[in-house]
Amino acid sequence: MKNFVLPLLALSHLYSVPSLKRVCTHFLERGGLTKENVIDVLQLARNCDAPRLSLICLRMVVKDFKSVSSTEGWKVMKHANRSLEQELVESVIEEDSRKDEKLRKLEEKKVYLQLYEAMEALLHICKDGCRTIGPCDKALKGSQVACNFPACKGLETLVRHFSNCKTRVPGGCIHCKRMWQLLELHSRMCDEPDFCKVPLCRHFKEKMKQQTKKDEAKWRLLVSKVIAAKNSLGPFSLAQRSIAIATP
Ligand SMILES: [Zn+2]
Ligand SMILES: [Zn+2]
Ligand SMILES: [Zn+2]
Repeated sequence: MKNFVLPLLALSHLYSVPSLKRVCTHFLERGGLTKENVIDVLQLARNCDAPRLSLICLRMVVKDFKSVSSTEGWKVMKHANRSLEQELVESVIEEDSRKDEKLRKLEEKKVYLQLYEAMEALLHICKDGCRTIGPCDKALKGSQVACNFPACKGLETLVRHFSNCKTRVPGGCIHCKRMWQLLELHSRMCDEPDFCKVPLCRHFKEKMKQQTKKDEAKWRLLVSKVIAAKNSLGPFSLAQRSIAIATP
C-alpha cells in the first residue's frame, strides 16, 4: 500500500472512485505521512480535492519545517511551485509569531500574578504579622508553621530593608523604590483606607487627588491587569498553590 498510495489516490480521484479515494486518504492521514513525502502528498491532496489530508500535511510542514525543508520533495516543489513555497514559509512565520505572542502573554501574566501575591502578602504582614515581622500582639514567632503566602518571605526581607535603608529617597535605592511602588499599588487597590494597617495607604490616597491624567491611566491599567491575573486563578487556586509549594 505504502508504495502505491500516491498513484492510487490520483487515479481514484481521476476516475471518481470515492471508496478507493477514502481508503487512500485514511491511510495517509493515519500514519502514512513522512517528512519525505509530505510535500508531494500536500500538492496531490490539493489537486485531488482532499481538504482534510491537505490540512494535516500543512500542520506537519509547519511543525517540522526544518527537516521538511531539507527534503528532496521540498527542493523539487521550490522550483516547480514558487507560490506554494511562499505560502508555506508564510505559514511557518505566522505560527512562530503566534507562539511568541502566547509566550509573551504568559510571561506578562506571571508578573501581574506576582504583584497580586505581593499585595496579599503585604496585607497579611501588616494585619496579622508573620514570623518575626508585623504587629507584636499576634505573637507569631519562629516556631510557627510556614505561612500560606508565597510572596511573604521575599516581602518580609524588602520591608525590613525599607525600614533600615539609609538612602531611602524614592528613586535613590532600587529596593526602596520597589517598596514605594508596592505600597502605592496597595493603596490604589485598597477600598478601606480608614481602617487599613498598611503604611502610607492614606497618604497615597491623598496624593491620588492631585495626580495627572496620565498617571491615573497608568495606575488604572496596572490595577486592572493585576485583578485580571487574580481572577484568572479561580477561587481555590491560592490554597492549591500553597499546597504545591509545601510538598517538594
Ligand atoms: Zn507570612
Ligand atoms: Zn533602600
Ligand atoms: Zn490600604
